[in-house]
Amino acid sequence: MRIVVLAGGIGGARFLRGLKRAVPDADITVIGNTGDDIHLFGLKVCPDLDTVMYTLGGGIDEEQGWGRAEETFHVKEELAAYGVGPEWFGLGDRDFATHIVRTQMLNAGFPLSAVTEALCDRWQPGVRLIPMSDDRIETHVAVTLPGGDGGDGSAAGSGERKAVHFQEYWVRLRASVPAEAIVPVGAEQAKPAPGVLEAIAAADVILFPPSNPVVSIGTILAVPGIREAIADAGVPVVGLSPIVGDAPVRGMADKVLAAVGVESTAAAVAEHYGSGLLDGWLVDTVDAGTVERVEAAGIRCRAVPLMMTDVDAAARMAQEALALAEEVRGA
Ligand code: GDP
Ligand code: CA
Repeated sequence: MRIVVLAGGIGGARFLRGLKRAVPDADITVIGNTGDDIHLFGLKVCPDLDTVMYTLGGGIDEEQGWGRAEETFHVKEELAAYGVGPEWFGLGDRDFATHIVRTQMLNAGFPLSAVTEALCDRWQPGVRLIPMSDDRIETHVAVTLPGGDGGDGSAAGSGERKAVHFQEYWVRLRASVPAEAIVPVGAEQAKPAPGVLEAIAAADVILFPPSNPVVSIGTILAVPGIREAIADAGVPVVGLSPIVGDAPVRGMADKVLAAVGVESTAAAVAEHYGSGLLDGWLVDTVDAGTVERVEAAGIRCRAVPLMMTDVDAAARMAQEALALAEEVRGA
């Protein structure tokens, strides 16, 4: 069975670990979000690709859900001693090595997809991980900054409206001000990376894990050609809600959903994707009351436990998603 999964960081990675356990023999292609990518200290950092790679390759900091296990922060401390920031982005020593290798290869002319493949040679994630695009796409968030001193001064202003990099919004500002708009800068001119459209066309089933619908999956779908390829693939497309009991399980997805005018409910996210894209949708058992609303939107819906408390729980979610896909296929 050939499965294509669109993935962000933590939610995507943890689901993928369950999927691998549920169907060990499946041929899994992951299309990873690169809208969160950022250049720091001259290095190209790809947080979502790395979260997937480290999680599936056994190198993730389990508790945190991102970054390397047994990490140290000497380089960061030394940079800070030179007064070189930003200090708000936590890059550990082990993690730095990944970004150095990546940047070196990019500078030598390799596309990001080839670089990602090379990094995965070490981590052996057991899936084929492809960035959504080799072209540079950066998610920006339009905000109105509160007046006064914003801390380090770099983004402070008096009611100033500006666009900040997604990482600055998420990590530095902790989504503390409303996101007024989300713009995947560069997406319009971008092309899907080699292998993306081919994998979608060859898929038996396409899954949307419980990743952020706006800044993870939404960004992948913003690359011209990807949304159309999925809609036209003619195979079941099944998603799992990242919203449980009207709130994101972790993170601040409600803030970016509000920016696109979508309420933070499992049903509203399904409607946001729409029946043109989604055939099936899983909501958590606490949201069983919304199944009818989702089905009224033309999307087959089931309520099952959706908390990835451990790998087995994620594997059961993957099984449910595949079962719903078969149900939809037979319909
Ligand atoms: P990020 O790039 O690291 O933010 O990760 P993703 O975009 O892949 O996933 C983030 C989403 O995962 C958030 O909106 C969370 O609500 C969701 N999430 C995290 N853990 C769980 C879980 O155990 N169950 C469900 N249903 N969603 C989860
Ligand atoms: Ca992310």
